[in-house]
Amino acid sequence: MKPSTDCRIRFEGRGPNLSETVRTVCDACYNEVDAPVVAVCETVDVRGVSVTDEFWYPICPLCGNRIGHAATMDRNFEKMYTAYREARDVPRPDEIVALRRRYGFSQRVFAAILGIGVASVQRYEGGALPSESHAELLRQARDPQILRERLRGGAPRLGERDRERALRAVEQQAASRIDYAVVRLDLLDCLPRTATPETGLRAFDADRLREAVVYLAAHVGNLFVTKLNKVLFYLDFSAYRDEGAGFTGLRYARADYGPVPDQYDLVMAALVDGATLAYREQGDGRVIVARRGADLSAFSPQEVARLDTVAAFANGFATTAELSAYSHEERAWLETPSGEVIGYDLAQYLRLPEPLPAKGARA
Ligand SMILES: [Zn+2]
Repeated sequence: MKPSTDCRIRFEGRGPNLSETVRTVCDACYNEVDAPVVAVCETVDVRGVSVTDEFWYPICPLCGNRIGHAATMDRNFEKMYTAYREARDVPRPDEIVALRRRYGFSQRVFAAILGIGVASVQRYEGGALPSESHAELLRQARDPQILRERLRGGAPRLGERDRERALRAVEQQAASRIDYAVVRLDLLDCLPRTATPETGLRAFDADRLREAVVYLAAHVGNLFVTKLNKVLFYLDFSAYRDEGAGFTGLRYARADYGPVPDQYDLVMAALVDGATLAYREQGDGRVIVARRGADLSAFSPQEVARLDTVAAFANGFATTAELSAYSHEERAWLETPSGEVIGYDLAQYLRLPEPLPAKGARA
């Protein structure tokens, strides 16, 4: 979304965009006119979401009235709805269609499972904005487990045959797909949440880890997954060495190619959700990129300085392979048997310079 100042600068003092006109009847002077469509920067309220963007209006060339023109307003509504859907995580029309087709449901069956009218499903797939309660139902439909529960417990409008067929489709999806939303919840449950020697005496905090990775994705060049594994290792072990507690609360294990967060494939599946963090294909691998800036409010200036130090350290290696080779000289890796958890006590031998104090952090 463009900030209002941005589009004001672009449109202030500029004449109408004459490249597009609509032939219509002015609703003020009632003349039939060829009205030029101009872009106006405005902030509008869409059900509590403030949307600032360029919206289009046909201007009457005779009386200067902004003409209420249905087809042009539809384009404005589409912009507003898109912004609202993004802000409130409301499934888009194409996502609703894809979701329904994933299970092979007709609009009638899908509507019956959700307990809403088939006309509503048709309107939402056609671009209408769902009500808040219907939006919640559509969000839930992303999760096959919830659909299964609805099929077992409710959906009275569904015939027995439709219900059984729908249950089979949902169960198949639940079994064959990794639903990242569900994995994200599982992740929080299965990683140790208490501070122990294995977690560097810090309780694992998914939000801290996510924001640290978002920051690193923006500050470390070519952040391949293998590189991130090492970067996190240096982040946590240097924090433990210098402060007596790790940074993220992750456990680390010895893999043949270096130290890695324990269960790192699960950690990655949970972190790289396509919304906050995403993969970009690059060369033979996938680079992690951030889709937004990091929220550093939970970190002290010293912790931000540590993120910077570790990022600079990683950027000092020309390739991920060189960083890997360097990590293979660490006693933390050398002295741990393959597949075993690496003890944070070995952090004292870490070959990473101490971070500089953050600017302004200390007098
Ligand atoms: Zn007019």
